[in-house]
Amino acid sequence: MQQAFHEPVKLGHHDVAISASIGITVAPEDASEEELLLKHADLAMYEAKARGKNTFHFFSQDLNDAANERLQIENQLREAIRENQFLLYFQPKVDIRTEIITGYETLIRWLRPDNTLVPPAKFIPVAESTGLIVQIGEWIIWEACRFLARQQSRGYDVTLSINLSVRQFNDQDLPLIVERILKRTGVKPRAVIFEITESMLMGDTDAAINQLNQLKRLGVSLSIDDFGTGYSSLSYLKRFPVDELKIDRSFVKDIPQDRNDMDIVAAIIAMAQKMNLRVVAEGVETAQQVEFLRNNGCFEVQGYFYSMPLAEQELSQLNYTVNT
Ligand code: C2E
Ligand code: CA
Ligand code: CA
Repeated sequence: MQQAFHEPVKLGHHDVAISASIGITVAPEDASEEELLLKHADLAMYEAKARGKNTFHFFSQDLNDAANERLQIENQLREAIRENQFLLYFQPKVDIRTEIITGYETLIRWLRPDNTLVPPAKFIPVAESTGLIVQIGEWIIWEACRFLARQQSRGYDVTLSINLSVRQFNDQDLPLIVERILKRTGVKPRAVIFEITESMLMGDTDAAINQLNQLKRLGVSLSIDDFGTGYSSLSYLKRFPVDELKIDRSFVKDIPQDRNDMDIVAAIIAMAQKMNLRVVAEGVETAQQVEFLRNNGCFEVQGYFYSMPLAEQELSQLNYTVNT
């Protein structure tokens, strides 16, 4: 079948190339009812799509279990929204030259009624694929800005980084929502940083640039999260109005053992400086990593070496001064 699809299809005067993602299930091993077989083939097809399309994938029990888990999480997420089971944690960003806290990153937590804490990696993708993220995301921006307003009213001059998900970023209404939240909470917009990933900027780049410009017009800053893990096209850095690069933890974690990673981190810092972008390193866990970053000119860092993400009431226990 794949070979058959290799041949271009004639559409009027045009030759159109198509590809197929194929899901396969086997009867009666996987199931014997028609409806279930179709459901299994469908799941397998989505897996083929997820693995880069133009390929095939067989149904397996693992796929089924994963799909059931997603469905379960989806139902629980709806309940979580209704019953306010989400919390925000804040992870300090520290200037390594002064050891002063310069800001925080907002990280969501889901505390289930049975007191289990679900990590975002487990539910953000489900929230994203079901569209629930738009609602949760708006709540995050509200709560984050209220936190920032409390910090500012105490005289702290800190930035607050807020992660945006793909759907949220693509939402036409986002700039309007942000504008309303900034106004209502009264925070200084220049203290708000939205984190987006490289992959969000690919695809329809004109729409992405337009969205970034609309956000920038509100006075907020933009940061590229997980920098270096995606396409990292240098030309887009010039074209997109971003202010900050965030070096991904995967490059930081093996410093000082991995020479390759050290070269990459040094190159990202040098590039950020050349392009007049701020640079933040995340996932910093050791004194050697701090030293390496310092020697290479990256002074704002975030990671367990200074602090884990904490609930707001826990922040006062930290032994670092907060910028005023
Ligand atoms: P991220 O934005 O790259 O966030 C950094 C993650 O690294 C956080 O995990 C943080 O707790 C963890 N981390 C920070 N320092 C260290 C360290 O020194 N060592 C190690 N091992 N880990 C460290 P978390 O909170 O589990 O979040 C995971 C991902 O979930 C985030 O990655 C982000 O993509 C997503 N996420 C979290 N909160 C939100 C949110 O409010 N909105 C959206 N859209 N996504 C979120
Ligand atoms: Ca982030
Ligand atoms: Ca990251």
